[in-house]
Amino acid sequence: MSSTVVVGLQWGDEGKGKIADYLAASADLVVRFNGGNNAGHTVIVDNKTYRFHLLPCGVISGKRVLIGSGVVLDPSVTLSEIDSLKSLGIQVNLGIDYKTHIITPYHRILDKLEDSVQGKRGAGSTRSGIAPAYADKYARVGIRFEDLINKYLIKKKMEFAYKRVKKLLSLYPIKETSEFKDFSKEYIEYGTKLKKYGSDVSAEVNEAIDNGKSVLFEAAQGALLDIDHGVYPFCTSSSVIAGGVCTGVGLSPKKIGKIIGVVKAYTSRVGNGPLPTELPKKQANYIRNKGSEYGTTTGRPRRIGWLDLVAVKYACRLNGVDEIALTKIDTLSGIHKIKACIAYEYKGKTLTSYPSQPSILSQCVPIYKEFSGWGLNQGIKSFEQLDSNCKEYINFISDFCQVPVSIISLGPRREETIKA
Ligand code: GDP
Ligand code: MG
Repeated sequence: MSSTVVVGLQWGDEGKGKIADYLAASADLVVRFNGGNNAGHTVIVDNKTYRFHLLPCGVISGKRVLIGSGVVLDPSVTLSEIDSLKSLGIQVNLGIDYKTHIITPYHRILDKLEDSVQGKRGAGSTRSGIAPAYADKYARVGIRFEDLINKYLIKKKMEFAYKRVKKLLSLYPIKETSEFKDFSKEYIEYGTKLKKYGSDVSAEVNEAIDNGKSVLFEAAQGALLDIDHGVYPFCTSSSVIAGGVCTGVGLSPKKIGKIIGVVKAYTSRVGNGPLPTELPKKQANYIRNKGSEYGTTTGRPRRIGWLDLVAVKYACRLNGVDEIALTKIDTLSGIHKIKACIAYEYKGKTLTSYPSQPSILSQCVPIYKEFSGWGLNQGIKSFEQLDSNCKEYINFISDFCQVPVSIISLGPRREETIKA
């Protein structure tokens, strides 16, 4: 049996796309199991930059890629991603689970309204309709891929959604409703175009694992944004952690093999919510610019902080991480002193475990361990060749989390990756 899960251990944008692409070389299937096109995964191969929102990164390596039922799928985004990959000469061998819920323009409208009403109190949405689509799923009024590809059903369901959302809109102080119309025609067309991708993803994945094939699961977002275990409500709407594979694909926990957690050498986050290690403007700007920390989906400048190992250790526990892939070591190079948070001070006490309640977290003051900085030479091919200060930082992360660091990423390109 060979199945590997790649999860983010922070607030997303840890470099999961790059690591999933690196690991996809030895996979037969690459599978997304959560989130939607709020994700933005960047992969750079042969000087070409690919940005994925929905399709698993393994598509570049020509692998069969699957979208599990835990994902919420925007048909227009799916079609444009397929088209842009085809225009680059990439074959798209895609399967979408019949049970996957569909995002409609109504979800995007509601998302935008909700985000503007909530303002700073809310999570800070990408406004792509993710939260309202999951809300409909759990309220059992959602539209699934099986409906989308049936002309009769999609027409009926879109007409019903139109009437239902029209009533909901009356709850909001809206001035402009020009975006709101009956979208059933567009959705019938999307369904016709996407029908050929329909799949029973649970059956495909189980069969592949049973036949000794290699399956890679690619998570979107990061553990601290998980709907259950993240910093609620400043989180996302899906199960981000490794356990989400089971429900988001239809796979027994017994069939999950290795779990690789991706950690960025510092902290970045988009959206609101407490972030104890957040850096002041000047230092944050330096790292943000050096590491190009701007959202792949929204272009929003990411908030920047020192590495929070209390949070990462919590994420290791939630996921049962076997190995860490550490990214962006290069971004910190050249900084004289580097810090990592190893505990918090909260109301005069020392906290060593992560409090996911925002009321507590917002009052936590980081306790740091300081490290001497490092430089990074070109063409490093092994852990041994790294600067001794850099090795000390990596070894500390591994010891603190009690998880070996097995992959080190030294740049955004596929080849800038070493095994530890
Ligand atoms: P994801 O959402 O976890 O897949 O991460 P994103 O792709 O949104 O953000 C990570 C960004 O860092 C992307 O622009 C990557 O190309 C880039 N990246 C990944 N690993 C490294 C690394 O080790 N060094 C540098 N400098 N950039 C990296
Ligand atoms: Mg991202």
